[in-house]
Amino acid sequence: MLAIARHCENCVALCNSCCYPKPKGSGWPRVNFSITWFLHGQGPVKLATCLLPFRNHTFIMLHLLLQGLVYAEYTWEVFGYCQELGFSLHYLLLPYLLLVINLVFFTLSCVSNPGTITKANEFLLLQVYEFDEVMFPKNMKCFTCSVRKPARSKHCRVCNRCVHRFDHHCVWVNNCIGAWNARYFLIYLLTLTASAATMAIVSTVFLVQLVVVSDLYLETYVDDLGHLQVIDIVFLIQYLFLTLPRIVFMLGFVVMLSFLLGGYLCFTLYLAATNQTTNEWYRGDRAWCHHCPHVARPPSAEPQVYRNIHSHGLWSNLGEIFLPAAAHCAEKMN
Ligand SMILES: [Zn+2]
Ligand SMILES: [Zn+2]
Repeated sequence: MLAIARHCENCVALCNSCCYPKPKGSGWPRVNFSITWFLHGQGPVKLATCLLPFRNHTFIMLHLLLQGLVYAEYTWEVFGYCQELGFSLHYLLLPYLLLVINLVFFTLSCVSNPGTITKANEFLLLQVYEFDEVMFPKNMKCFTCSVRKPARSKHCRVCNRCVHRFDHHCVWVNNCIGAWNARYFLIYLLTLTASAATMAIVSTVFLVQLVVVSDLYLETYVDDLGHLQVIDIVFLIQYLFLTLPRIVFMLGFVVMLSFLLGGYLCFTLYLAATNQTTNEWYRGDRAWCHHCPHVARPPSAEPQVYRNIHSHGLWSNLGEIFLPAAAHCAEKMN
């Protein structure tokens, strides 16, 4: 029997207890994992760790560039045409309001302290969460940071620090998401999704209005065989793409983004409502430890089941995100 009492960063608990059953109540469909993986989860982190092993601003620049291009197109074409068609100014200005709020919370997510554990605040943070002895055993130490690890914390390999209530490292904000900035990140995600969805709705309504006003759908055309055909939806989309290519391209982009961000937002809200972090969900949902195949568990040993012991009801869970315990005191001690 090989039983190594060493905590594995990537699996749930001590390495001699990796093969545990899937926890009850963590049944988020695996299909959402691909969205999480793509947007903010383990995928970009691993990819970023390989390609860009240190913190850098590449994804922040890409984020701002894409956001700038979409808003430029909206301003120069959609906004003007919609005004001509008599759209309400309130609806047309809504994406700008969302942009301002989004940029404020994007900046806060980028620059705020996610909950870095230091020698000064280590003792205080050790008191915040109970140790479950499965995913977070007591008396664990991070040898890189030389601090005792509080429950729900994790060492971020990109930032090279231990973070209190670690959620994930987000390459788009170039920062960890932890106990003290999860609230900023949630509002940032909410406003980003809302701005993409608002633009998608305004642009769609504009194109529909354009077709209706011009009576385009009543027109006919002669096909390749010389037959007279009534204009159908495919012909309309092709026609709009040829006459207004940038708007149709932007619409396709923001629709796709709305679905991706909407899916990820639902996932994040689910985690917030059940008081789980992405790190805990990811680790708690794995039936096998792929990182330590050389470690065998004795057949007679009782499997250690991970249970979420931190959920205390919806409002309490949301309160923990927006009013994180000990944040004020611990931040002062840094
Ligand atoms: Zn550490
Ligand atoms: Zn990080």
